[in-house]
Amino acid sequence: MIQFDNVNKRYESGQDALGRVSLEIDRAEMVFLTGHSGAGKSTLLKLLTAIERPTRGNIIVGGQNLNRLRNSQIPYYRRNLGIVFQNHQLLFDRSVFDNVALPLSVSGCSRREVGRRVRAALDKVGLLHKEKQNPIVLSGGEQQRVGIARAVVNKPALLVADEPTGNLDPKLSEEIMGLFRQFNAVGTTVLIASHDLELIARMRQRVLTLQQGQLIYDGYPSREPAY
Ligand code: ADP
Ligand code: ADP
Repeated sequence: MIQFDNVNKRYESGQDALGRVSLEIDRAEMVFLTGHSGAGKSTLLKLLTAIERPTRGNIIVGGQNLNRLRNSQIPYYRRNLGIVFQNHQLLFDRSVFDNVALPLSVSGCSRREVGRRVRAALDKVGLLHKEKQNPIVLSGGEQQRVGIARAVVNKPALLVADEPTGNLDPKLSEEIMGLFRQFNAVGTTVLIASHDLELIARMRQRVLTLQQGQLIYDGYPSREPAY
């Protein structure tokens, strides 16, 4: 599903954010990306979501080489991606329903189909009863669930999240992880950047660790014996 082949990213400042990173993620895998602040996690996600382009190397997602993607094709590419942000980036001038419907506004769905899909997505995150509310009145955990509903409303094959539990307490973080697990269980590939090592350890999934732009670990830490 995702292949990084010797990927380097050097920002215009001259900063090397990623150096020769190679990795593969299969369809329907759930993978955590971790590392200290500045390790390159956000950069890797920005390359994957075509917000940034690699300086060197190839990134292939669903058979498509992102280097060959023209700027005009990027919106179509992103339609198959669900992106969840730490600060959820909800719009407070419209309802929960309209926030979740945003990605569908460019898809040419009928109003009836939009309603069906938005309600199905809100139902999956347990917020169907809040569709008419303004997200500003929701709790932090609920706002993040709206962000997840918006990310999955297009039924993306790949769900990418950047510190999705960064502002949440441990109990709410577990709930949010439970949602990602649910989407993964029905075949969605999930990649989550997080520096919450305790949370990641409890999830017992594959972990990729970056350090100063290098991939220094790729494995299942919880399956190895404790010394
Ligand atoms: P993380 O998400 O792990 O905290 P980032 O990918 O944000 O790491 O950053 C990796 C490195 O790239 C850091 O040294 C950071 O300062 C640098 N960096 C990130 N974004 C930019 C940018 N737009 N321009 C220049 N340097 C950047
Ligand atoms: P459909 O008849 O289109 O399969 P569903 O009721 O199964 O409809 O799903 C409707 C909504 O639920 C989708 O628009 C999406 O928001 C969410 N959804 C369902 N399955 C998935 C999945 N595997 N990954 C992400 N989102 C999903």
